[in-house]
Amino acid sequence: MPSDVFFADARESFGKNQYKKIQKLIKKLDFEEIIKPRDTVAIKVHWGERGNTGYISPQVARQVVDAVKAAGGKPFITDTNTLYRGTRRNAPDNIMTAIGNGFAPSVVGAPIVVADGLYGHDYVEVPVAGKHFKSVKIASSIHYAKAMIVISHVKGHLAVGMGGAVKNISMGCAAPAGKQKMHSDVKPTVDAEKCIACGMCMKVCPAAAISRRKDKKAQIDHKKCIGCAECVVVCPGAIEVEWESDAALMQEKMGEYARGALVGKENKCAFLNFASNITPDCDCLDWTDAPFATDVGILASRDPVAVDQASAELINQAPWTPYAHKLKKPDAADKFMALHDVDWQPHVAAAAAMGCGSRKFKLVTVT
Ligand code: SF4
Ligand code: SF4
Repeated sequence: MPSDVFFADARESFGKNQYKKIQKLIKKLDFEEIIKPRDTVAIKVHWGERGNTGYISPQVARQVVDAVKAAGGKPFITDTNTLYRGTRRNAPDNIMTAIGNGFAPSVVGAPIVVADGLYGHDYVEVPVAGKHFKSVKIASSIHYAKAMIVISHVKGHLAVGMGGAVKNISMGCAAPAGKQKMHSDVKPTVDAEKCIACGMCMKVCPAAAISRRKDKKAQIDHKKCIGCAECVVVCPGAIEVEWESDAALMQEKMGEYARGALVGKENKCAFLNFASNITPDCDCLDWTDAPFATDVGILASRDPVAVDQASAELINQAPWTPYAHKLKKPDAADKFMALHDVDWQPHVAAAAAMGCGSRKFKLVTVT
C-alpha cells in the first residue's frame, strides 16, 4: 500500500510563499490527529554546525511550532550531541551553536532541548529485535516525547549517499554511543601519547574495562569491553572514534535505529523534507558548498521511508546545477551515487524492512 507524500514545488509567488506552502502541507498531515492536547512534541531538526549555513532555517521551525501549539501540543526544538569533536559535542556547546544559528527560543517560539543530555549519556535502550541490535540507544527526550515532527534538509552525504528523514531519525536521534555502534563494531583503544590520565573514561565505563597503567594513563581490556563507546564520548582526545564501517552494514544498522526512534510513537510522527539548496554534504560540516541540483520543493508525509524515496526520485529528475563538478562517478544515473559513489538506498530499504514505512508512495501535489 503506497503512502501519501504531499508535495509543494519550489516556485513562489503572491500568496504562495514558503510559509504558506508549509502551512498547507501541515494541514494535509493533520496535526490534530497526531497530537493530543498537552502532548509533548519533539520537533527534531538539525540546527547545523557552527559555520554551516545549509540547515533548515529557524523561521521554518517556527511554522511547525505554531502548528503544534494550535493543535494543543507542547513543542520543543531538539537535536542530539555529536560523536565527533565539533561545536555540538556536549549540551552547552550544542545549545550555544543552536542559538548562534538562530534557534533562540524567542525566534522559534519554543525551548531548545539537547535530547541526550549534558554529555550524551541520557538515553533509553529501546528494544528493536533487529539483525544487528537487540536494543538501540535513543536520546531520552525524543523517546519520552509523546509525538515527533521531523524537519529534514535533503542533501548528499559522504557516508550514506543521501541524508533525509531516515538519516535524521537514525543517526540524528541516537546518543553518541549509538552513533558509534552504527559506525563501527571496532572496540576503542587509548592513545597513550595523548592520554592526560584524567580518569573520566574509568568513571563512565559500565564494564569496568578500563584501568590505569603504572604511569596512571588509561588502558582498555578488550576482553571486558562491550563496545558501548561511553569512553569515546567523555575522553578529551586520547580515545579516538572508530569511523571505519562497511557503508552497506552501517546503513542496515541505521534502519534499526530509525525503528527505535519511532517506538511508542506509532501514528504520532510526521516528516517534512526540504529538497532545496541541495548541497553535496551534510550540515554537520562547518561549511556549506553550493548546491549540486536545482531546488525541488517541500515534501511532507507520515511515512519517513516514503518521504525520502520521493525526495530522492524528484531530485534525480531535477537538473544539475553548474556547481555539480566534483562527481566521483559521473556516469551513474542516480545523482547521489554520481556525487559520492555511495548508494543511499540501503538505509531507506533497511528502515522499510524494519517496519518504518513503505518505499511505494503516491505523490499528491499541493498548490
Ligand atoms: S567502549 Fe564502553 S565498555 Fe569499552 S572501554 Fe569504553 S566505556 Fe568501557
Ligand atoms: S578519558 Fe581519555 S585522557 Fe582521560 S584517562 Fe581516559 S583515555 Fe586518558
